[in-house]
Amino acid sequence: MKECNTSRRNFLRNLSYGIGGLAISDFFTFPVNASEAGKKKLGIALVGLGNYSSGQLAPALQETKHCYLAGIVTGTPEKEKIWASKYDIVERNIYNYENFDAINNNSDIDIVYVVLPVSMHHDFIIRAARAGKHVICEKPMALNARECEEMIAVCKENDRLLSIGYRLHFEPHNQEMMRLGQKQIFGKVLSVDAANGFVYRGDPKAWRLNKSLSGGGGLMDMGIYAIQGARYTLGEEPTFVTAREQKTNHELFKEVDETVFWELEFPSGARSSGQSSYNANFNYLKAQATGGSFELTSAYRYSGIEGRSSKGGDMAFSQVNQQALQMDDFALCVKNNKQSRVSGEEGLMDMKVIDAIYRSLSSGKREQII
Ligand code: NAD
Repeated sequence: MKECNTSRRNFLRNLSYGIGGLAISDFFTFPVNASEAGKKKLGIALVGLGNYSSGQLAPALQETKHCYLAGIVTGTPEKEKIWASKYDIVERNIYNYENFDAINNNSDIDIVYVVLPVSMHHDFIIRAARAGKHVICEKPMALNARECEEMIAVCKENDRLLSIGYRLHFEPHNQEMMRLGQKQIFGKVLSVDAANGFVYRGDPKAWRLNKSLSGGGGLMDMGIYAIQGARYTLGEEPTFVTAREQKTNHELFKEVDETVFWELEFPSGARSSGQSSYNANFNYLKAQATGGSFELTSAYRYSGIEGRSSKGGDMAFSQVNQQALQMDDFALCVKNNKQSRVSGEEGLMDMKVIDAIYRSLSSGKREQII
């Protein structure tokens, strides 16, 4: 059963290279340092040791086969000792935000993974690529599409691979949505309903509610998954969007969006209704096709994802360590000179959609996604 799931996953992974119509070539190669090619496990340095790094990525790096936690970059000196002893990180692999560029001399570090507030992604990805490191950038990729384009360009100039922390591309239920939709197993997909939100109960002063640090609220943080879900279920890129916003807590969400609704239009005629929120709980991805329907509930979580279809009943896939699979896949991309399926171009496409949604919120009109 496990073997069957694995080969099915590999098959689905191969299918997913063409997701969203992006011309990602399997044959697009990059020069690789001899040391990277020869290493058994590549060294990853996490930049930013907040909740996601400490709660998900560092533990996942204890399970990876092709990479390991080799270094850290932190602005908080107290974290250095704690992380060094917990994860056995040698002193020469510990950096702060100021001396970070000296990482270019460090052959222990092959990949830099930026896990900082969104406004810092652009700067740190560019610094890491210029320091000769391959890079993973957390979502959303940057504050806007223009920044994403600059990041992609600098990585290309420096022959470095760039990948986005889109863990769900490595999750079997989500991969099944890609297969069912893109292969039109239930016929042509007519519509996708996708929503992701939670009730924000965190620090009112946190970066997520500060527009200059986050770029936006629930849409940037949560809605991006619903946009991606629609794109990878349909396997095509939306061209127009119409959006509206609802705000009930004007004090807490004075700088960023609380709840946003949008309608995406795709070239095939398919439409996707989406919703994001920092003030309501929902988490689903539902597709309606000419010959049936298929859906995920708890679609975007780290675990506990469930799915079903109108014909096949419940989807029977195991839960996986999404982050471990995602990082291992990128390590293999680096070793094999291969573009990641969750490339910078994937991150850019989501930012183009988000930019257009924000334009529609301010114009009150249907906007082209450009
Ligand atoms: P967090 O607030 O827990 O951690 C942020 C880190 O950045 C902290 O270590 C903090 O010290 C550091 N930092 C540096 N400068 C800062 C500043 N000016 N203001 C605030 N913090 C600053 O955030 P997080 O939840 O770990 O999120 C980090 C990134 O990871 C974001 O891009 C987020 O969207 C992404 N993320 C992704 C997932 C996923 O499932 N892929 C899940 C959670 C977070």
